Amino acid sequence: MTVDDGVRALEIELAELAADLTAVGWHECVLCYVNRMVVAHGCDGTLRWLRRWRQSSAPRATRLERRAGQVGAYCDCELFLNGWDVTVDIVRDESTGDEYWPDTVTGCRGVPAGVTQPCSLWERLNGATRW
Ligand SMILES: [Zn+2]
Ligand SMILES: [Zn+2]
Repeated sequence: MTVDDGVRALEIELAELAADLTAVGWHECVLCYVNRMVVAHGCDGTLRWLRRWRQSSAPRATRLERRAGQVGAYCDCELFLNGWDVTVDIVRDESTGDEYWPDTVTGCRGVPAGVTQPCSLWERLNGATRW
């Protein structure tokens, strides 16, 4: 094996690692996924995480981005500013302003494959439960 081959192997490993870090969890709903990605990687001003979830979990839900716009979300973080809120009591660190899930939440509550409605951790800000 040459030095070149070693470099190539390393690059491939890193690429696979990056793919895993942004992979959609098993039965993870769209909002738990987007929330997790925005916390870890930020919002780039587009619906990139929503799109990635759709491609991975609900490729036929081609109107999902339009529905996001209908709840006032034109980028990933706006889903949580304008569209949806959590249904559980979030823990706030008063000194830093950071927010955490309560201990009772260990992850997404799960949705069936292909379902674009979020799990019961989320509700529409206007009191509706669906998109
Ligand atoms: Zn944003
Ligand atoms: Zn969820």
